[in-house]
Amino acid sequence: MSTQNVDPIEIEKFSQIAHKWWDKESEFKTLHQINPLRLGYIQKFVDIQGKNILDMGCGGGILSEALAETGATVTGIDLAKKSIKIAQLHALENNLNIDYKHISAEEMAIQKPESFDVITCMEMLEHVPNPESIVRACYQLLKPNGWVFFSTINRNLKSYALMVVAAEYVLNMVQRGTHDYAKFIKPSELARMARHVGLTQIDGYGLVYKPLSKSFELSPDMDVNYFLAMQKI
Ligand code: SAH
Repeated sequence: MSTQNVDPIEIEKFSQIAHKWWDKESEFKTLHQINPLRLGYIQKFVDIQGKNILDMGCGGGILSEALAETGATVTGIDLAKKSIKIAQLHALENNLNIDYKHISAEEMAIQKPESFDVITCMEMLEHVPNPESIVRACYQLLKPNGWVFFSTINRNLKSYALMVVAAEYVLNMVQRGTHDYAKFIKPSELARMARHVGLTQIDGYGLVYKPLSKSFELSPDMDVNYFLAMQKI
């Protein structure tokens, strides 16, 4: 069944803190901080104005709203019901017309094949049991020549030290237990999954944390957080 590619513990974890999605000092602080950088990264490849965009694993809609504010027509999907509710309320408050749905990527691919110009799937693959199934759904959901932007966490000693130990325990940037090292994905592994399903990799780039300025920046260093830009060509 298509809806089985979900870890209920992960969904419960996000549901419990769903009311904090828009609190910029909460566990979601990092996502707010990196949001302009990820929007900028996407815009290096596509003019998103007027495009049909699917934000997969949208959570409370941090990226969905930024995309909609830039002039895209946005659909956001997530399997945490509470997050979808928060996202809907927040969009309403901000007068943004975003179509949020509680539906799996795989089910959406059955209902709306070849419907989107752009898909964003950010910080989500490391939370699902079978990431390749999500990558395949992205392929099916994209129109020909469409773009998909993934971001996730690399798997090596450095990413373990930074994400699991430093970020969660020392800096308290994200909630403890948010990240399971075994589920981190190497860029080469994600590239292989993408190739498998028929996507073409156009670019890969990193996102690094600068402790001194307590800020993030785009960088060729993909050791920890990274983006892959793919196209259906
Ligand atoms: N993409 C958002 C949120 C990232 S947090 C952003 O970057 O701002 C990860 C999100 O993935 C959570 O909202 C969680 O509910 C969602 N998620 C986890 N497993 C999922 C699954 N199998 N299908 C859909 N969403 C999932």
